Amino acid sequence: MSATNAEWTERYAGSLMNTFGPPKTVLVRGEGAHVWDADGREYVDLLGGIAVNALGHGHPRLVAAVTEQLQTLGHISNFFASAPQITLAERLVALLGTEARVFFTNSGAEANEAAFKLTRRTGRTRIVATEGSFHGRTMGALALTSKQAYREPFEPLPGDVVFVRYGDAAALEAAVDRDTAAVLVEPVQGEAGVVVPPRDYLPSAQRIAHANGALLWLDEIQTGVGRTGAWFAHQSPALVDGPVVPDIVTLAKGLAGGIPIGACLATHGSGKLFDPGNHGTTFGGNPVAAAAALAVLDVIEEEGLLAHATAQGERLLAAGAADPRVVETRGAGLLLGLTLSGPKAAEVVAAAQDAGFLLNAPTPERIRMAPPLNLPEADVAAFAAAWPAILDRAGVSA
Ligand SMILES: *Cc1c(COP(=O)(O)O)cnc(C)c1O
Repeated sequence: MSATNAEWTERYAGSLMNTFGPPKTVLVRGEGAHVWDADGREYVDLLGGIAVNALGHGHPRLVAAVTEQLQTLGHISNFFASAPQITLAERLVALLGTEARVFFTNSGAEANEAAFKLTRRTGRTRIVATEGSFHGRTMGALALTSKQAYREPFEPLPGDVVFVRYGDAAALEAAVDRDTAAVLVEPVQGEAGVVVPPRDYLPSAQRIAHANGALLWLDEIQTGVGRTGAWFAHQSPALVDGPVVPDIVTLAKGLAGGIPIGACLATHGSGKLFDPGNHGTTFGGNPVAAAAALAVLDVIEEEGLLAHATAQGERLLAAGAADPRVVETRGAGLLLGLTLSGPKAAEVVAAAQDAGFLLNAPTPERIRMAPPLNLPEADVAAFAAAWPAILDRAGVSA
């Protein structure tokens, strides 16, 4: 007999550190955009592991790529190189569209750590980051993250990081100077609740950074690899009046569709700032993770998932906004935010789960969706049909 949700949840509480609060349920299986919990309940996964499960659950191409690579060559050390690692670096550079070098990691925070250390090699130390930013939980990534509640218990953090209002080019202009190593921004702030800056913000950030000899560093950990309907959000005509050519781009989340990986891409001269011995990792660039990422890139390309994500995202937003208790919609592709008429997001997430849909509440009044990029239209239709009753059940008033 397999255990129930309640039994697993009790064992969880007795054996895992309480960093995440109690789990919302215990999942045992996934297929496509659907997952099942230990009590056998089925859900449409509109969160996608927080923008990670780009191809949904158990995609046969991802399973085959990982299986074949593990059978062929699973892990080597970084004393040696592997074909998947080199091929993936080349693919990412080609998608970026400008000459660059890549450092692979296992997570987003580690990609940002690599980039943070890289910026120190400019000989400058100051980073200008933004209010509402989220860049990860390691000490360096936390130093770049603005949220006081995350920072305070762990201070002192690495210093010389200043925060300016997000989306405000004048604030950047005032803060960036000749001591600034890098300007760090997310093209869309995901954890802050899908906050989309003005269309000229990234071009302004680039101009301001470069006028001061500083690097433009874009954290695309949540927005990259097709999430917003473009390979990189900074290339999306839906979000940015381009062109923007960042000096550093960090990636993770969706890159390998659920297999842990991160990447720090640095263009031109900044890609050559590390010397041998400056940085390292045991697992980063592991052949299995790299093979998984190559499969994700192949499937996005072959199945036309950038266009699909854009189309389904528009439908999902329209479905959400069809109810007047949604007062605003945000986002692009399949990184979407719905603002409710009141601070009921947690109640809506719970009601949605009862109705068989997994959502997330990054703020008290906002719902975030980041489903698989191959989300079937039938699941969008099911959500559209269920949404008004979810809002009723959560007690959201007009
Ligand atoms: C998730 C996220 C990170 C941290 O990634 P981890 O893999 O959790 O360390 C950093 N930056 C952004 C924008 C993210 O969304």
